[in-house]
Amino acid sequence: MEDYKVLIIEDEKQMAMLIQMELNHEGYKVDIENDGMQGLNRIKNEKYDLILLDLMLPGLDGIEICRRVREFSDVPIIMLTAKGDIADRVMGLDTGADDYLTKPFAIEELLARIRVIRRKNIQRDKDNELKVDNLVMNGETHEVTRGGRKIELTKREYDLLETLLINKNIVLTREQLIEKAWGFDYEGDTNVVDVFIRYLRSKIDDEFERKLIATVRGVGYVIKGEKL
Ligand code: CA
Repeated sequence: MEDYKVLIIEDEKQMAMLIQMELNHEGYKVDIENDGMQGLNRIKNEKYDLILLDLMLPGLDGIEICRRVREFSDVPIIMLTAKGDIADRVMGLDTGADDYLTKPFAIEELLARIRVIRRKNIQRDKDNELKVDNLVMNGETHEVTRGGRKIELTKREYDLLETLLINKNIVLTREQLIEKAWGFDYEGDTNVVDVFIRYLRSKIDDEFERKLIATVRGVGYVIKGEKL
């Protein structure tokens, strides 16, 4: 594995060290900061591939750090929040965190989320674009086109399409789509996925002969690439 550098900003020292140990074991390089302000300075001065960011921190809280980091960097951020604090989670999402984990979490869960984020970065080409057939999603401008024509998507539709594109040719269950595209442990009905898939289809597939989104009965959905 090439060097993949992770910064943990977490004031619970034992927890930070435990995560560090587990990530080291997986081959990641890990630094720790226990103070929010020092953590932010470190992100400014060193290059990281991923930030694990606690919400409640001395110095500067996680939401504020997130907001400030987004002014100068797109580094992936996974926010670690206290149990069940929905409002905090949503706020974090709006300030630019990529994913959430509610404490306490299993280390396997954290590793899985990191793999998703890594995969997301690897799958983009150098122009930061995800493509399938004549559909192009630009990760920087957030512009989506099919056959060169611009398609307007809501944030949720965009996140859902992005999840499908990242996992091109892999069938995802409704639960997986919710977890990845909704970004946190959504408690409601998974039928919401069907509703948003329908919205997406009306925008990207209905007018085209070649349908990109396929339903796999009894399982879920997949975006099919050129070759299977
Ligand atoms: Ca804390």
